[in-house]
Amino acid sequence: MSLNAESTAFRSALEVIRAVEPRVADAIGAELADQRESLKLIASENYASPATLLAMGNWFSDKYAEGTVGRRFYAGCQNVDTVEALAAEHAKELFGAAHAYVQPHSGIDANLVAFWAILADRVESPALKKAQVRQVNDLTEADWFALRRELGNQRMLGMSLDAGGHLTHGFRPNISGKMFDQRSYGTDPATGLIDYDRVAEAAREFKPLILVAGYSAYPRKVNFRIMREIADSVGATFMVDMAHFAGLVAGRVFTGDFDPVPHAHIVTTTTHKSLRGPRGGMVLCGPELADQVDRGCPMVLGGPLPHVMAAKAVALAEARRPDFADYAQRIVDNAQALAEGLVRRGTKLVTGGTDNHLVLLDVSGYGLTGRQAEQALLDSGIVTNRNAVPQDPNGAWYTSGIRIGTPALTTRGLGVAEMDATAELIHTVLSQTQAGSNPDGTPSKAKYVLDPALADKISKQASELLTGFPLYPAVDLG
Ligand SMILES: *Cc1c(COP(=O)(O)O)cnc(C)c1O
Repeated sequence: MSLNAESTAFRSALEVIRAVEPRVADAIGAELADQRESLKLIASENYASPATLLAMGNWFSDKYAEGTVGRRFYAGCQNVDTVEALAAEHAKELFGAAHAYVQPHSGIDANLVAFWAILADRVESPALKKAQVRQVNDLTEADWFALRRELGNQRMLGMSLDAGGHLTHGFRPNISGKMFDQRSYGTDPATGLIDYDRVAEAAREFKPLILVAGYSAYPRKVNFRIMREIADSVGATFMVDMAHFAGLVAGRVFTGDFDPVPHAHIVTTTTHKSLRGPRGGMVLCGPELADQVDRGCPMVLGGPLPHVMAAKAVALAEARRPDFADYAQRIVDNAQALAEGLVRRGTKLVTGGTDNHLVLLDVSGYGLTGRQAEQALLDSGIVTNRNAVPQDPNGAWYTSGIRIGTPALTTRGLGVAEMDATAELIHTVLSQTQAGSNPDGTPSKAKYVLDPALADKISKQASELLTGFPLYPAVDLG
């Protein structure tokens, strides 16, 4: 695509929007300007391609398409069928999966689809069989009551939140925690790594229906072959939520024991994190769970978003190109360079380094909470997010950690030299920030003191670091 085409496309779109509500057009333009200027180190964010973005802004948004390809509850879905089938085909080829369900609107939705597919397969289907009926509407009131109780009385074993697990893996504030009796496995306090013997022990004691692997803040690889063996040893369904690292699986950085697809019964993911697609979700599985997974809408999902499925097809086609594997490898090279740069400057990292796209800083050594560090970095043009560290004394709100990730900056083209410079900026800000105090003199977990002149100077250095790596270089909004 020529430089001209991308600029023309986005400029024209903004012009059309501006004619109706100029403040929305302005906000869209301002968002691009902000993203261009800041050093985006949020581990769960990325920059989708212009083709992916443009595939979302069109009349596919107007279409209802409940059902699956070729089996819709609405007429006139032939073009939606085309894009949904394309997205699923690309996903299956890319990940080597037997089945792909590309309708989930987000990662949380993908997990809900997976949980209910597993419950339907392992709890509901046997109950229907036992009652000798074909569907839930045919059960007696008493059998239905008993089945509902059974559905609500299942167990899940997942990674603990402070070890890097995700809220949707059975934690109380999320619906998964209200659905499942949950227990979690943590990491070894000495090494910060998953201790598979402890996971096996927890599985033997707890006998979960579902064993979940996957994380949003664990900086190492997970051995999915071992996790599957553990699941099999207790008859659990093994689910992997690869929301964060799907790009590394797609790019063949995680292979063999570290590729979840051949080992898990079911895999869920987002499409907008390291995979670099549109904001959305996806479920991959074998033929055994495929029919149940396809019932995601209307079981737990609202009508599919055909415009987003179109964008998923575009992004997945991009991820199948050879240069995506190169991109995935550079994500990890960059994360490792950033980790080494920080360690060299004395920053404490959870597990001491990284095997993937993210680095978890323990900022307690700087005398700061995660919240103070996050805000001080933000003042200095460095966008990160605070995150709990294992056994965090400051809890999930203030935290003691900062999570940083390289998928976004790698998309812009930054490399290992820039990562070392980034480590220097981060270390400078953190070492020059002091914890603040409350009006009564007690230490505050939120307030901090950072010289505004220094914050300004770092912001300038951060944007200078980015000047050689323009974001959406072919897009000129004029
Ligand atoms: C980001 C994430 C999700 C949720 O994704 P959304 O699209 O925000 O719903 C689920 N699981 C894990 C492991 C994640 O990192």
